[in-house]
Amino acid sequence: MNNRRPRILPLFLCFLFCLPTQAQSTQKQYDYLNQEFAQKAWPAVTDLVKNMMVHTLISQVESTDMGPLNAKVSNIQADLSGIPKFFPNQNDLTALFPATGKFKLKVDVVIETPLVTDPTAEIEVDLAIVLKAGEKEAIFDHIADIRVDIHATQTWMEIAALSFLTLGGSATLALVVPALIIAEYVFESEIKSKIDEDIEKELKKNLGMLQTILFDPKAPITYATPDRELLSGPTHPDLSKNTVNILIVADGYTPAMLSKFIKSTDDMTAALLEENPKGSDLLQPVSEPFRSFRKAIRVERLNLEVPKVTETSQRILASFYDKNSNSQKLSINNISRLARIGIQANELGADVIVILGNPHSLPATVRANAFGNLVLMVGGKDAPSTFLHELGHTVLGRLADEYVEKTDTVYRGQEPINVNVSKSKTSKWNFWATRPGKLLPWDKVTSGHVGAYTFGKGIHRPSSRCKMRDKSKPFCAVCREAITR
Ligand SMILES: [Zn+2]
Repeated sequence: MNNRRPRILPLFLCFLFCLPTQAQSTQKQYDYLNQEFAQKAWPAVTDLVKNMMVHTLISQVESTDMGPLNAKVSNIQADLSGIPKFFPNQNDLTALFPATGKFKLKVDVVIETPLVTDPTAEIEVDLAIVLKAGEKEAIFDHIADIRVDIHATQTWMEIAALSFLTLGGSATLALVVPALIIAEYVFESEIKSKIDEDIEKELKKNLGMLQTILFDPKAPITYATPDRELLSGPTHPDLSKNTVNILIVADGYTPAMLSKFIKSTDDMTAALLEENPKGSDLLQPVSEPFRSFRKAIRVERLNLEVPKVTETSQRILASFYDKNSNSQKLSINNISRLARIGIQANELGADVIVILGNPHSLPATVRANAFGNLVLMVGGKDAPSTFLHELGHTVLGRLADEYVEKTDTVYRGQEPINVNVSKSKTSKWNFWATRPGKLLPWDKVTSGHVGAYTFGKGIHRPSSRCKMRDKSKPFCAVCREAITR
């Protein structure tokens, strides 16, 4: 009898305090997603997505077959900068991208025709994305509302001529007013049908990493012993505020496999600080500028374990098929786990969080993804070189890819925010291009080369060789400068 009493009290206390604590911690996760993920990671995603959408929109409008008429896109207003909002919805998670519910892409189109002066059209595309993450399956949806409005500022006779060219004589002979309406209708529906599906596909392609999201706040997080280890940088805890802090987190490693995570993180840290081997034909360490700043960089690892690699809610990483690059890419799995790890990373002062997946639990050749303060990648033999390339994408460098995937495609999007790619041949790196004397021998090629940002034409990179193009090479001067800032 006496033995039972002390057990009742903790149980009773748990009923009083455990439930509110759970609710409170879920609220903390929403706060993290709204404040950290939405503010730090999302803006890095949207500039790329916006440019891909604008590229598709312009390419489609200009290739629309309108008989003797040619459409030229002039003024482009694209705003995808809206911040998403995450909120609870019947124990699940819903995210609205952006919080206002709408993105807007707007272009003015000039129609070139031999007979009619200055007919123009205005195309507006509204994109509303709602993401619902449940425990079993994520629902990814968006609605696109496309409006095409012709501004018929010319005379009706001119419009009649325009409709004659578009529709042929019979329609024009009927009446000028119906012809005006028919011409507008034909023009509008031509463009609409052309861009409708493609815009929707383009958006889904570019936001593919959100398609696998689930939200399971109950899935446990298990730590190995020791739970956390410092791999490089000053040991005094106060110094962490004065350093750049990189936290590498294990994802999908069972206790038996954790040694592979340890090995990968050791190799990644070594690569970050590596000095070039003597006799190498490289003219500078492939790890610059990180090696020079090694006393100001702290690398820590978080040793997490999972009971089984297939336990999806205990994973931050999943994968999806990316039609853009025709390859498998990493995406987000349990975003509640990401939020909980993110809260801990914040407490540790982490500037960049690297989620390192067990390569045996994901498709072979799955590709890394980095945005804002987050890197999603897998361990294994390529991890060291991938790590440095992906760090270039993060807040440390905000760099774009310099490699080419669509060899024959001319880039038609807006000027990217990244300093290492540009529609102009030299404007962003003119300082280095005009001062070759200030460059190391390796960088003497910094003068603008066609092909970057995955497009073969219409966009430039500073140098022929760079880590943002080829992981085995050093960063180019422009990228080193960006990371140094
Ligand atoms: Zn570069």
